[in-house]
Amino acid sequence: MKRKVYNSMVYIALVGVMMTSILLSMLSYYRYMEQIKEEIRTEAAYMATSLNFHEGQNLDAYKDLTASRITWIDSDGIVIYDSEGQKNKMANHKNREEVKTAVEKGKGEDTRLSKTLNEQTYYYAIRLSDGTVLRLSRETQTIVKQMVDYIPVFLLMTGVVLVLAIALSKILTDRIVEPINKIDLIHPKQNQTYSELTPLLDRIEKQNIDIEHQIEEIKEVENMRKEFSANVSHELKTPLTTISGYAELMKDGFVKQEDMGRFSATIYEEARRLIAMIEDIIKLSKLDENQVELERENVDLYELAFKVKSDLSLRALEENVSVHILGIHATVRGVYQILYEMFFNMCENAIKYNKPDGKVAITVSIIEDCPTVIFEDTGIGIPDEDIDRVFERFYRVDKSHSNQKKGSGLGLSIVKHGAKFHHADMSIESKIGEGTKITIVFPEDRD
Ligand code: ADP
Repeated sequence: MKRKVYNSMVYIALVGVMMTSILLSMLSYYRYMEQIKEEIRTEAAYMATSLNFHEGQNLDAYKDLTASRITWIDSDGIVIYDSEGQKNKMANHKNREEVKTAVEKGKGEDTRLSKTLNEQTYYYAIRLSDGTVLRLSRETQTIVKQMVDYIPVFLLMTGVVLVLAIALSKILTDRIVEPINKIDLIHPKQNQTYSELTPLLDRIEKQNIDIEHQIEEIKEVENMRKEFSANVSHELKTPLTTISGYAELMKDGFVKQEDMGRFSATIYEEARRLIAMIEDIIKLSKLDENQVELERENVDLYELAFKVKSDLSLRALEENVSVHILGIHATVRGVYQILYEMFFNMCENAIKYNKPDGKVAITVSIIEDCPTVIFEDTGIGIPDEDIDRVFERFYRVDKSHSNQKKGSGLGLSIVKHGAKFHHADMSIESKIGEGTKITIVFPEDRD
């Protein structure tokens, strides 16, 4: 930037100096010439008047009074006097411009270049009363010479201007840059600076907010992952302990033949539970690892409900439960995969912990601008003492209540973290033997 300001200042200064020099030298040259011409005209007029009065004067008397060369020419063009004593060498002057005009009109003038471009001669001729012509001439500078004379002055001025331009551009850029350097980029809107920078500062502010949000999201996911993995190893150990204990008893022959079926069924159940748990763990770790899939998009919750219903249709058939979807289209800005897991887990629970011929209703609506989803079932319900704990990782209601259904105890914990991730509020109501209702209210879409 400094270089740019410096360059343009030097450019402006140089053009300015050059134009001023040219104009000034032209003007002063014009005035210098006018002055000389006027002087010569006046001299000639005085001399002519004097010569007209007193004929036959010796012109040498005038020679020392003037800087001009005096030439006297007779009516045939022959030089009869020359103040530089060259009269005999001088050619006929009849056809000289100034002489010709003077003979015709009384007065004549002309300017002719000398041998070089540096000098020229101004001639002024006046016709005397006896028909002869008096001519005064003087060598003057040409405009070229005048300009050449100005070159040292021009160079000096250029030098001074260059020094000034460097100093000024430094002061200027320092002054311009100072408020920019002082800008607080963490709080861009609090700066008092050039109004031209407002759009840039607005953009930085927006980016800061975006970055903050991104960091928050990353932290949330990170926390989710940490909390979760702390419990994983412990929870995996429980079914494995059962499996290995039962298997050991069978291997050592401590199990009677009639108990064999019950023992192997337990081993099978525990192994299934382990598999379900590992599946959930894989789902969560996929969410954690694949940051690309965490990109937010507009997700239609109504359509998502239909997708989940269709994916669970076999499950519903097995349990003899019907799933109904009610409501309207409602879009949230969210991560599709997380929303899908949430819906899937809630719907699966509503089917799983239901009664034969039971019903599940998923209602999508917009309440006070907030997309809202309600999962309702006519199932076994959750006891009051467990209701606050079902969202904890690996928490399962006592097996006798949940009818010994397979599960990892991670489903609702995924729902809870997913809701938190989307800044949604979640509430649960349940009555034992009647059913459960989970309501999720997403924040109003502000974009
Ligand atoms: P699980 O894998 O055991 O289903 P969840 O975290 O999804 O784990 O649920 C935790 C517990 O909450 C379940 O074991 C079950 O006892 C209870 N629960 C969840 N949803 C329902 C529901 N719709 N009706 C009755 N009980 C439920």
